[in-house]
Amino acid sequence: MKQSARAGTVRGIAVDIHWSVLLIVALFAWELAEYQLPTHPGHPDAADWVAAVVGAIVLLLSLLAHEMAHALVARRDGIQTRSITLFVFGGVTQLEGEADNPKADFRIAAVGPATSAALAGIFRGAEAIAGVATGHSLAVATLAWLWEVNLLLAGFNLIPAAPLDGGRILRAALWRHWGDRSRAAVAAARSGRYFGLALVVLGVLGLFYVGITALWAALIGFFLYSGAVAEEQVARLQGALVGLTVRQVMTPDPPAVRGSATLVAVLAMFEWRLRTGTLVVTDAAGTPTGVLTGQAVRKPSAEQRQEMTADQAAIPIALLPTARADEPARVLVARMLSHDGRPALVFDGAGRLVGVVDFHDLERAASYAIGGSIEG
Ligand SMILES: [Zn+2]
Repeated sequence: MKQSARAGTVRGIAVDIHWSVLLIVALFAWELAEYQLPTHPGHPDAADWVAAVVGAIVLLLSLLAHEMAHALVARRDGIQTRSITLFVFGGVTQLEGEADNPKADFRIAAVGPATSAALAGIFRGAEAIAGVATGHSLAVATLAWLWEVNLLLAGFNLIPAAPLDGGRILRAALWRHWGDRSRAAVAAARSGRYFGLALVVLGVLGLFYVGITALWAALIGFFLYSGAVAEEQVARLQGALVGLTVRQVMTPDPPAVRGSATLVAVLAMFEWRLRTGTLVVTDAAGTPTGVLTGQAVRKPSAEQRQEMTADQAAIPIALLPTARADEPARVLVARMLSHDGRPALVFDGAGRLVGVVDFHDLERAASYAIGGSIEG
């Protein structure tokens, strides 16, 4: 996610924080201090504010625990996590691949709400203990708020609408039932689209009856709706690529340019190629060092292109996803998306670069596959 800062890594998993997190901490703290803490109703004092800010931060850590649980279970199933991002609507765990069977898909999804529910139980217990031991109303009220919100998070996430965890659980169940992951993913995403739309409509109607807080529901609904639309597109693309290998969809032996070449020279030679494809950039010895996309070549001004070299405009090899030629083509979709949509380098069994795949290649292959021109 853009405009995020790396907060650190937890058990080898990068945790990013989006600026909008400040907004949710402030909102939560305000709600907690103004409405939930019974000590000074309507007139929170300094102690109330301290409790409220601590409560909001603990809630943020609860969200992180929920996302961490997804990431750790995914890792146990052999799927690495690119990053966890906390933002205004909660958290997103970006996996580098996807489960290869419905059971693992279920496990990875279900552990999130299970973690939130477990945290709700822990805070409920702590509330009871704090009530007996101290009778301190501020601590008790903060803990009560924490378990309620965590329970709410567990419940909301179980709604069977992708991209919510419940949607992923629905996908796993349908996948097991139909034996077809793409069909299951499309159905779960469609359910997410309807649910998101319903939330938007309810939120907008709610503006007239409930007031401005209903806007929150509309915003979450819109976020879910766009997420579901994107998931449906991905699922359809993956479905269309079933049966094809990476070798069948890649651009074989992509043209290569020397890293020291100026962009003017590159454009003069490969204008045609850069319209829909990518070039490989190599060092003097011919070893690939990155790729050059049409967008990257055209972004600098005509003047800058005189000076700028292919190396300077290229995406370095370390940032690119890679694939083996004999892998199924459909795995590329998630892998490329988790690398911000960058093209993938394809290697053969001997580790030689044999091709490049970008989204143009995938869409072309998918449209042929749907037309029946390629039989996997
Ligand atoms: Zn989750």
